[in-house]
Amino acid sequence: MLGLMQSQPLSISSLIEFAARHHGEGEIVSRRVEGDLHRYTYKDAAQRARQLAEALDALGVQPGERVASIAWNGYRHLEMYFGVSGSGRVLHTINPRMHPEQIAWVMSHAQDQVVCFDMTFLPIVKAIHGKCPSVRHWVALCDADKLPPDSGIPNLLSYEVLLAAQTGNYRWPEFDENTASSMCYTSGTTGNPKAALYSHRSTVLHAYAAALPDVMGISARDSILPVVPMFHVNAWGIPYSAALTGAKLVFPGPGMDGKSIYDLIELEQVSYAAGVPTIWQMLLGHMEPNGLRFSSLKRTVIGGSACPPAMITAFNDHYGVEVLHAWGMTEMSPLGTVCTLKSKHLAMSEEGKMKVRLKQGRAIFGIDMKIVNAEGKELPWDGKTYGDLLVKGPWVLREYFQGVGDTHAVMPLVNGWFPTGDVATIDADGYMQITDRSKDVIKSGGEWISSIDIENIAVAHPAIAMAACIGMAHPKWDERPIVAVVKKPGAEVSREDLLKFYEGKAAKWQIPDDVVFLDTMPMGATGKMQKSKLRELLKDYQLPDLR
Ligand code: ADP
Repeated sequence: MLGLMQSQPLSISSLIEFAARHHGEGEIVSRRVEGDLHRYTYKDAAQRARQLAEALDALGVQPGERVASIAWNGYRHLEMYFGVSGSGRVLHTINPRMHPEQIAWVMSHAQDQVVCFDMTFLPIVKAIHGKCPSVRHWVALCDADKLPPDSGIPNLLSYEVLLAAQTGNYRWPEFDENTASSMCYTSGTTGNPKAALYSHRSTVLHAYAAALPDVMGISARDSILPVVPMFHVNAWGIPYSAALTGAKLVFPGPGMDGKSIYDLIELEQVSYAAGVPTIWQMLLGHMEPNGLRFSSLKRTVIGGSACPPAMITAFNDHYGVEVLHAWGMTEMSPLGTVCTLKSKHLAMSEEGKMKVRLKQGRAIFGIDMKIVNAEGKELPWDGKTYGDLLVKGPWVLREYFQGVGDTHAVMPLVNGWFPTGDVATIDADGYMQITDRSKDVIKSGGEWISSIDIENIAVAHPAIAMAACIGMAHPKWDERPIVAVVKKPGAEVSREDLLKFYEGKAAKWQIPDDVVFLDTMPMGATGKMQKSKLRELLKDYQLPDLR
């Protein structure tokens, strides 16, 4: 027997319409490429998203066709989130930090029809427009007077001119909630970029889950700063959850340095922020020497790569900001786990609580997870046994858009579970801890060494800003770890002192064999350390006992 409730399809347009109706005056503040701060409301955003949808009709863009963005976090990008997807097209958010060749590759792979870009990225568009035959319209996210006179880009349109030409009487279409809504390519740290293709259903369910108190805990009283880019897994879904709750949104635009982020947090009384550890490193690096404090920031979600303990301590103990350590993937929309304490933890010592906080956290409702051994046998949740982490749920990828990279092969699920490529433990309370990515684990003498553990110890040293641990081939041990580090500006530490710092913090056989000092760390397009590049840089390197 079927239930007798209405089966209205879940839709992204309903999020912005809800925000416009119930939080119409809710503010959206954006630092623009133009340099100024732009302010408007959810009501304005909804109106302009409808105008964009109408403009896409006028351009003849069909349902299901891809409309790409190359843009910073800002209000026009937000309008694309709702206008493109809400009207039944697919928003393809492109990471501008990818190499232009790779951008042209993903555009052809996605068969983008329209590309909207911030003027900062004009040089990219100039470099690639001849290599993207599927693109019919290039749209600059600016006013007509900001369009370059002789860009050489055919059919270059101004976004504002496009919007101004519409009536504003658009009505959102209704369609199956499983309709594709947006797509995001992985940054390719593990091979060719592969695209996750989200649906209205997966996006709205994820938005509900993300807003929950023990997840991101987003409310109408929050002022949220998503520093995580809107081209990186939909800014972790924050724009959707913000519309769902009516929270104020503050967009940093191109101002991603420590000072710009700090100033914006204070100016807009941000209560809540989200980003990868590298961003917070820059923020703390600005605040510490200048003796600055937060007047409004209460919580920050840190994820995308392991959050070093030193950072959790700095935020929690020194600045009174609660850190929500989160884990997820492009293939998971992205949220899988968030680390919030249970009531049983509240009576623990600060040290005990810290041990829990360091983990990537508990699965959120909607995500099922397990760890398995090489034979696929499920492993116990004892906090010690590690294995390959598998997940499933309504916002987890089933298969990649048009297969895997160039090959068009479909990466199969394992009995309905998505293999994350991460190695993890899960404890009896259900807290998952990533020990490594399977390709980064260091296999030494039949034992595994977690590169994350080795990196965390290095960055706890006061002179170290960044650390990456990689395995080097060794005839006897198979692999031995070395740690590549970048020192904090003006700070000094010797190889010997850093290796000594490991004593008592890691088992003897886990201590790296060597330290390599770098001026800068190779970083990937999503702000993560790029170990593949590091390995390339160190291809002629020899371990001390093999020299
Ligand atoms: P990619 O880097 O391959 O493009 P994502 O940006 O989707 O893909 O990154 C997902 C991966 O990032 C996860 O599989 C995991 O290895 C890593 N990751 C994400 N969050 C965390 C975290 N909190 N701690 C450790 N690793 C994390």
